[in-house]
Amino acid sequence: MPLEILGRMYEKANREYYAIGQFNFSNLEFLQSAVEAAEEMKSPVIVACSTGAIKYGGIRNLVNLTRTMAEKCSAPVALHLDHGTSMDHIKMCVDAGFTSVMIDGSHHSLDENIKLTREAVEYAHKNGGITVEAELGRLGGIEDDIKVDEAHACLTDPQEAVRFVKESGCDSLAVAVGTSHGAYKFKGAVKIDFDRIATIKKLLGIPLVLHGASSVDPESVAVINQYGGKMKDTRGLDAESYHKAIRNGINKVNIDTDLRLKWTAVVRKTLHDKPEEFDPRNILGPARAAVKEIIKEKMKLLGSAGKA
Ligand SMILES: [Zn+2]
Repeated sequence: MPLEILGRMYEKANREYYAIGQFNFSNLEFLQSAVEAAEEMKSPVIVACSTGAIKYGGIRNLVNLTRTMAEKCSAPVALHLDHGTSMDHIKMCVDAGFTSVMIDGSHHSLDENIKLTREAVEYAHKNGGITVEAELGRLGGIEDDIKVDEAHACLTDPQEAVRFVKESGCDSLAVAVGTSHGAYKFKGAVKIDFDRIATIKKLLGIPLVLHGASSVDPESVAVINQYGGKMKDTRGLDAESYHKAIRNGINKVNIDTDLRLKWTAVVRKTLHDKPEEFDPRNILGPARAAVKEIIKEKMKLLGSAGKA
């Protein structure tokens, strides 16, 4: 089917309390993994590009590849811009055919964030009814070239969120509730403020988005290190955290790190096990298959499997 507007996919997810996975990509193989997983799991899927991914893959290439694959897929596929930070990013992606965009004004003051988001909403809504995700509060960690240290991270304030959504008109909201971007999320136990999610959901009613929500699979990290990688000990979200976050009102979960880790682990192992191999298809193919399996597991975990 043609690319789906994300807002349409949200209606059922919001009503039935499940989340749709957002899987980031910048190349052919990651996109194939996500769309094939959607088909096999009968699950809606969101494939997303950051501005860095767009620079790497080329916007027309990425949009056309996604369109072509979505058309052959019987499950709905939305193409989303992850962490756009300016109107230039929003216009570029809406004009190119994205069906959802994120405007991240979380580094600005509340008033500035509202103003920027309002502008993005006006443009996206009048050009095809494209869905807009905004962010309030600030996540720690690293996303593309945006780095936020712990001292500058702050959780989303529920009362501010009410004013923010009312004045900006955004369709969905990324909330800061304790997760962070990148592979190094929690030093000790996983700490997510589930009550904050529930309070914000009750006040707003709109789809809420959880960023920085990879589980940072220890097995992938171990394989990476076994075959010459150098990753520090780290952890992410466990299955129970996903379930609790979704029960409290999260409808979209962003997953990038887990795919990258699995990819790197399989590529490293393949190169080690087959030192004579130099055909990229035989090096990238097994990694693509492994990433698809991870995505299928996530779809089951998020409750989106069978919802297409
Ligand atoms: Zn993010």
